Amino acid sequence: MRKSIKAKLIRHINKKEFWVSCFECNIETSHKIWSQVNVFKDFDVEDYGPIQGNEEYMIIQCNGCHEFSFCSESTSTEDCVPDDNGNFEYYVTTKLYPNRITGRPKMKDVIYLPYEIRVVYEETHSALCAGQRVLTGIGLRAIIESVCKDQKAKGTNLKIKIGDLVRKEFITNRSAKILQDLRFMGNKSAHEVKAHSTSTLKIALDIVEHLLKEIYILPKIAEDLNKKK
Ligand SMILES: [Zn+2]
Repeated sequence: MRKSIKAKLIRHINKKEFWVSCFECNIETSHKIWSQVNVFKDFDVEDYGPIQGNEEYMIIQCNGCHEFSFCSESTSTEDCVPDDNGNFEYYVTTKLYPNRITGRPKMKDVIYLPYEIRVVYEETHSALCAGQRVLTGIGLRAIIESVCKDQKAKGTNLKIKIGDLVRKEFITNRSAKILQDLRFMGNKSAHEVKAHSTSTLKIALDIVEHLLKEIYILPKIAEDLNKKK
C-alpha cells in the first residue's frame, strides 16, 4: 500500500504559485514559482522494507516585494499516519532559504553594530530561524559576552562584567537583571546542551536586540541626525 504514494507526493507540479513566509514582507505571501525540480526516491532498506520519498526544489518570488528565494518541500513514507479509511496522510517538511520565521525579522540598522558583535548577532538570528535552538541559546550568551568585551567591562566572569555595565551606566539595573537571566539560559545551552523553546528564545532575542539598540544603534542614529541638522 505504501508503494503507491508517488502521485500523492508530487504536490506543486503544474502549480504556478503558492503561499509561504516572505523574509522581506515578514508575513505569509503568495509566491510565484519560476522553476521547479522534482526528485522521487525509491529504495529498499535491508531488514526494513521499501522507503519512498519525494523532494521538490523551487525558485520562488514573492508577489508582494518581488524578492527571490528558494524553497524545498519533502514527503516520505516514513513521515505519514494512516487515516480511518486506511489511506495515508503525509507530513510535508518545508525548508526556506534564506531561513526565516514569519514575524521575526532581523533587527534594522545592524550596520551600526561593531563588526564582531554584528557577526554573532546575525548568526544567532539565523540559528533561531533555522530552528537550531541549542545554538541560539549559546549565541545569545555570546552576544552578551561580546558586548561586555567591546565595552571593556571589568570582571572575572560574565556575571560581574554585567554588573560593571550597570556601574558604567550603559544599562539599567533592570536590564542587568534580565541579562543575568539570559546568561543563565546561555549556560544551560552551552554546558547542559539544553534546547529552550522557540518562543522563549524569541523573547530572549527581543531583549538582546533592545540592549544592542540602546548601546550602539540609537546613539549612531542620533549622531547622524545631528550631522544632518
Ligand atoms: Zn515579500
